[in-house]
Amino acid sequence: MRGEAILARFGIAPGATVSGVAYGGRFAAAGGAVTETYDPTTGALLARVTGASKDDYDKAASAARDAFLRWRAAPAPVRGEFVRRLGEAFRARKEDLAQLISLENGKILTEGRGEIQEVIDICDLAVGQSRQLFGRVIVSERREHRVLEQWHPMGVLGIISAFNFPAAVPGWGWALALVCGDTILWKPSSLTPLVSIACQQIFHDVTNGTEAEGVFALVVGEGRTVGQTMLDDRRVPLIQATGSCDLGERVTAALGKRGGKSILELGGNNAVVVLADADLDLALPSVVFGSVGTAGQRCTSTRRLLLERSIAPRFVERLQKAYATVQIGDPLDERTLMGPLISKQAVADYTAGLTEIRRQGGKLVAGGNALEKGGGYFVEPAIVRSTKDMPIVAEEIFAPILHVIEVGSLEEAIEVNNAVPQGLSSGIFTNDLRKADTWISAVGSDCGMANVNAGTSGAEIGGAFGGEKMTGGGRQSGSDAWKGYMRRQTNTVNYGSAAVLAQGVKFDV
Ligand code: NAD
Repeated sequence: MRGEAILARFGIAPGATVSGVAYGGRFAAAGGAVTETYDPTTGALLARVTGASKDDYDKAASAARDAFLRWRAAPAPVRGEFVRRLGEAFRARKEDLAQLISLENGKILTEGRGEIQEVIDICDLAVGQSRQLFGRVIVSERREHRVLEQWHPMGVLGIISAFNFPAAVPGWGWALALVCGDTILWKPSSLTPLVSIACQQIFHDVTNGTEAEGVFALVVGEGRTVGQTMLDDRRVPLIQATGSCDLGERVTAALGKRGGKSILELGGNNAVVVLADADLDLALPSVVFGSVGTAGQRCTSTRRLLLERSIAPRFVERLQKAYATVQIGDPLDERTLMGPLISKQAVADYTAGLTEIRRQGGKLVAGGNALEKGGGYFVEPAIVRSTKDMPIVAEEIFAPILHVIEVGSLEEAIEVNNAVPQGLSSGIFTNDLRKADTWISAVGSDCGMANVNAGTSGAEIGGAFGGEKMTGGGRQSGSDAWKGYMRRQTNTVNYGSAAVLAQGVKFDV
């Protein structure tokens, strides 16, 4: 069977039933609902995964909480040493994991490798961070007083992750949270449970028999059952949730009721602007990668292309030619540029999306068909000529559909870019310094990421990653994203012998 050797590297036999629950350093006999996971390239069953029952979830959450009570006391650089070893383990298993991602998720191998490289990169970053969890000393208005700001571990981090980055995005959380002194309770997407099981095996290899044993717990299961239980669980003070904007609404509602905190990484609806003065040779490959890469299933995929009117016909023609050369097929074949979508449902969403786009007046200029290819979930990448007032342009369709919209000026491009509810990533192509700087100024793009002469996809680990508006406002990976995984404490220290009150208040007793 295709993929048998890849699964065997993680001890999984094709079609077998495996446990998706682990805590305390080992996999447990799980008693929850069984998830079937499929190879999107062929539609064949890869394995069955038994998820967490209510009781399994309870045990896993308690174990993660117990592990936290120990882990928080370890010095941060000691915690960093475990993250260094974790990064080494991912380095050693990079190719095995990349192939498993290609097999179960359908992204092409080079992107699977890139995904594991991202895990390695965040581990490297987090190791350094473990010696830099800085607070501040603030001058006090009171004599013989000092005010400090310190950062302390939060507790158990609940990770709810999406199918499209089954390792890298949860990986940002693992690495940073661990150096911050948190432990992890992970509910992965039910569409990619095998990748999470493989990662959990690696966690055990690195941590078992050490003081880090049990810092990782895994609870596979449906969002509305296991996920919702986690959202309602007071033992989990912080949730990192990656998924659609609908998920964000649920997380916010549940955490609002119990005072939980969240780091939200939700849907995007990313635009690239190409102005008439742009280097079109630079813009073209960036737009094609942004819209076709990962079969349009990145949160940062380019969904809207805003072309300055005078260059629109020329640029669309070049785009059509480039699209025609994209090799669609087996993601494990190194020549393939676009693999399948994740599921039959995703193909149906693509087809329904295009039907609705046409109903609203959009004109298909490339692609548009689902492809019969050996039982897999393949589609052609599509380009549609749309207008800014079509309501569907404001929606994220998680498939390779690119709206081309003409604009008359930079100002109009900014207005159209900002007119959607999401605010993740954006890019402009221009050789005009003033226009470029306007794009990234306060009156420019309102997205969490705004690029110049670079597309919407493919962020580096050093910058804070995340978006505004319905994208959730969360930040992960670099910069000071670590602060999201810790609690801030302000300390007033009186080293004198008088009880002095702030703001000059007198209260003599
Ligand atoms: P999804 O929202 O369907 O599922 C994401 C996760 O949420 C899954 O683990 C799912 O089981 C869980 N979930 C669903 N309902 C839940 C509930 N009621 N309670 C708790 N958990 C629940 O998303 P998906 O299809 O897996 O991924 C695609 C989406 O994720 C897109 O919208 C994409 O833009 C977004 N995404 C965003 C980022 C980012 O960084 N902003 C990164 C990757 C993906």
